[in-house]
Amino acid sequence: MVNFSDFALHKTIQQAIHDMGFEEPSPIQEQCIPKILEGVDLIGQAQTGTGKTAAFGLPLIEKMTNQNAVQAIVLTPTRELAIQVSGELRKIAKYKRVRTLPIYGGQSIGHQIRALKQGVQVVIGTPGRVLDHLRRKTLRLDQVKMLVLDEADEMLDMGFQEDIESIIQETSSDRQTLLFSATMPQEILRLARKYMNDPQTVAISRKEVTAPTIEQVYYKVFERSKLESLCRIIDSEDLELGIVFCRTKRGVDELTEALQERGYMASGLHGDLSQAQRDKVMKSFRDSTIELLVATDVAARGIDVGNVSHVINYDIPQDPESYVHRIGRTGRAGRKGIALTLVTPREMKQLRTIEKVSKSTLESRNVPSLEEVMERQQTLWKQQIVNLLAGDDDLTPFMQVVDQLKDNYPVEKIAAATLSLAFASSITFEEGDAYDFGDTGASKGMVRFFLNIGRNLELRPPDLVKEITELVGISSKAIGKIDIFENFTFIEVSQDVAPFVYEAMRHTRMKGKRINLEPAKPRVKRNQ
Ligand code: ADP
Ligand code: MG
Repeated sequence: MVNFSDFALHKTIQQAIHDMGFEEPSPIQEQCIPKILEGVDLIGQAQTGTGKTAAFGLPLIEKMTNQNAVQAIVLTPTRELAIQVSGELRKIAKYKRVRTLPIYGGQSIGHQIRALKQGVQVVIGTPGRVLDHLRRKTLRLDQVKMLVLDEADEMLDMGFQEDIESIIQETSSDRQTLLFSATMPQEILRLARKYMNDPQTVAISRKEVTAPTIEQVYYKVFERSKLESLCRIIDSEDLELGIVFCRTKRGVDELTEALQERGYMASGLHGDLSQAQRDKVMKSFRDSTIELLVATDVAARGIDVGNVSHVINYDIPQDPESYVHRIGRTGRAGRKGIALTLVTPREMKQLRTIEKVSKSTLESRNVPSLEEVMERQQTLWKQQIVNLLAGDDDLTPFMQVVDQLKDNYPVEKIAAATLSLAFASSITFEEGDAYDFGDTGASKGMVRFFLNIGRNLELRPPDLVKEITELVGISSKAIGKIDIFENFTFIEVSQDVAPFVYEAMRHTRMKGKRINLEPAKPRVKRNQ
């Protein structure tokens, strides 16, 4: 097993990795990091979610010096990705004096110019805006030692080829060039031949894996209300013993604590625990003093417990292989097992990859509503009260309170008020939707999207409905008005599923064409 400490990374960076909670390098990281540190040009190909950012980010930050000039530039297709990559690089550079700055369209250019003037070593930007700064001479790339093309296939799909080439020409020719992509179409290889120096290729191919035949379900959740969703899901299941998987050690600690606060019997397991601590956790899991074991992939690897009723992927696994490993922890010895996976909008594509590669189908289910959870809670509350009534606990002090109140209030009301006092903390509610599509000119409760294909490709409403309901796992009821024109289409979908439709549908293929889906602009009023 390769460890992060096996790489020749400075201790400040090792410390940052530890803080980020990464337990071991992912396959793409394992292979890329030493090569990038050596200084060769490199093409890295691996699926979304496999950790490509840190694969280039760790050696990139390692190589930065305190020279006050832009030493590295990372190009990404969208502003969201620029912000995301910048955030990850900033975490890696936590203990090192390296300044990173995302620059993208839509943000005030004046603000970016001021930030650039302060001195920045790493720029992460979208091609259009980077070019804009180069033309204004507010950004210089002649000291760039490292150029990274991240999500290169998406950049080309979005028509950035020329911009990218113009930017590359502004950098010095002795730079190191890295290219990362989920797919390797011809145009990318052509770009690589033209601008890279004898590049080495690292490709993480998908291993064929087969998922066990157990019940597999996924829930569409939002990042912001993930914890709430998890609790509702747990509360609605007949859970005997469950393993909840998180991506990082940090994630394990945070989730374990949050679950404990909410009254669940949960313990965390990850590589930072001592052997004695691990043994203790495993013992309590084996003899069922806890109901939930929260773990990283690495920590769960050695676990062999027979009666795990549920595997819950709180964070979606990084690849199909680890999905299969995880869910294999349940359904042992002929028992019925259930695997539940939480999927955020951004992760829709990963879900489909997992399904395809592991040759399994995950049934889409909705996170139980508050009413459904409450209904279930009522049964539990009743049970607890019955237990108490049947037991021999001394209720005298409480009886006195009831006695004093019952002259003025009906006993039923007193009982209900008492219940609400006792159980109020078990009812929490928080809906979250981080996506703001703005005014899209949609009907109430809906979001209207623009799709760049129409009658020209013989698109008909039923085709579109079928495509969306299958890909996004939603009911056709969530789809509203569809207007198909010659070259484009407008489609309305219900607000709560709109982020999932958006992330799952943009940059996919339909009718043999690469499609683009974006929030529609509000209709312009005529005669004004
Ligand atoms: P990609 O660019 O391949 O789509 P990302 O770099 O965005 O993937 O990584 C996906 C997620 O996995 C991020 O949240 C990242 O912080 C996390 N991650 C990356 N490497 C590791 C690792 N070695 N261990 C745990 N989590 C990781
Ligand atoms: Mg990426």
